[in-house]
Amino acid sequence: MSSQKEIWDALQDLRLGSDQETWKLQVKVHQQFEVDHKLCLVVKGLNPEVQKPTGIKGAMPGIWGLIDKVEGQIQDDGTVNFYFWKEHHMLTVLERAPYTYKGWVVAIGLWQNRMEPNFLRYIPFKIHIEKLPPECRREDIVRDIGKMHGHVTEARVIEPNPVTGRLAKVWVKVDFHVDHKIILVKNVELKQGSEPVELNFRFRDLQKFCTTCGSLQHAFEFCPRASSISTTAEALMFIGTNPSTTTIERQIAIEGIITGQEIGESSNSVPIIPMALAPLADYFIEDACLESQESHPRANDVEIVSPDHGMKRKNADIELEDTQKQPKRQEQCSTTIPTASTSQASTHVALDLKTYAVSNSKGLVAALKPPLEP
Ligand SMILES: [Zn+2]
Repeated sequence: MSSQKEIWDALQDLRLGSDQETWKLQVKVHQQFEVDHKLCLVVKGLNPEVQKPTGIKGAMPGIWGLIDKVEGQIQDDGTVNFYFWKEHHMLTVLERAPYTYKGWVVAIGLWQNRMEPNFLRYIPFKIHIEKLPPECRREDIVRDIGKMHGHVTEARVIEPNPVTGRLAKVWVKVDFHVDHKIILVKNVELKQGSEPVELNFRFRDLQKFCTTCGSLQHAFEFCPRASSISTTAEALMFIGTNPSTTTIERQIAIEGIITGQEIGESSNSVPIIPMALAPLADYFIEDACLESQESHPRANDVEIVSPDHGMKRKNADIELEDTQKQPKRQEQCSTTIPTASTSQASTHVALDLKTYAVSNSKGLVAALKPPLEP
């Protein structure tokens, strides 16, 4: 039986008044709407797993250096409208794009263009092209290479200055589709029929991207191709993207991924670390050690907070705590992991691990902090 309240609530579904004259907003309200939306930018995070609309609304004014000069409003589709007081502020923000929030790129578009099919679908990247042979530093060549990344809006060749020692620079600005994958190295046939030349591409203001497939929309842990990479590569990616490692350690990890280093296993199931990865030995934890700890109740499960890494960013960039969902645990154990040397003779690296560790999906564990020196 329905309660009185339910009956009265249901009666509010009656269409009382719908057949009468339309109500109209005041003209000045319409005019204000037009004014407000002329100076409105829409912002969308490309990685919704990490970039929540409330965080974007709170952080972007600071990232732009426009606190109290712009007002954010979250929309139903997860985008955030930012209403600017002054046109030159809005134009400056557009001109200086791209921006990142929590290290991931955000797409920005004029509210007035919201009905266009490409709205929020392109990121304006400046890409430096490295290792281009001197005779190929020609604008049409540079533009043609840039086209492989996206629609080229500008191509520039800056000649070297042997007197001052300034090196040559070659860059393009492209509108990069959000579904495209970042390409950092490519063999390019610069002359018909000749040996391809390996070129490097450096994206300005790019911070986080999937290190497995190059997507701007997910971290490598969530990559559909994650199953295709090896256990060691996955562990090295944790180290390579971990802000608490040193620059040298990150370089070693990245080099290890590039050269396909693999941690082997001895006959007694103890991991053998290749020489190239020996400096990172402290980061690898024997999984059996963790498993033995699993059976004991732990006093503290500690959330790992990943402050952003030290890569280049805009001055006012505000980064909040990373809250990526990763397996997290605190462990204490002592174990010994042999290191493979070039002569096949093993040396032993004693580990006394009292550190936070992350287990990747395949069982190999990379510690987020190396043990302290005794
Ligand atoms: Zn991916």
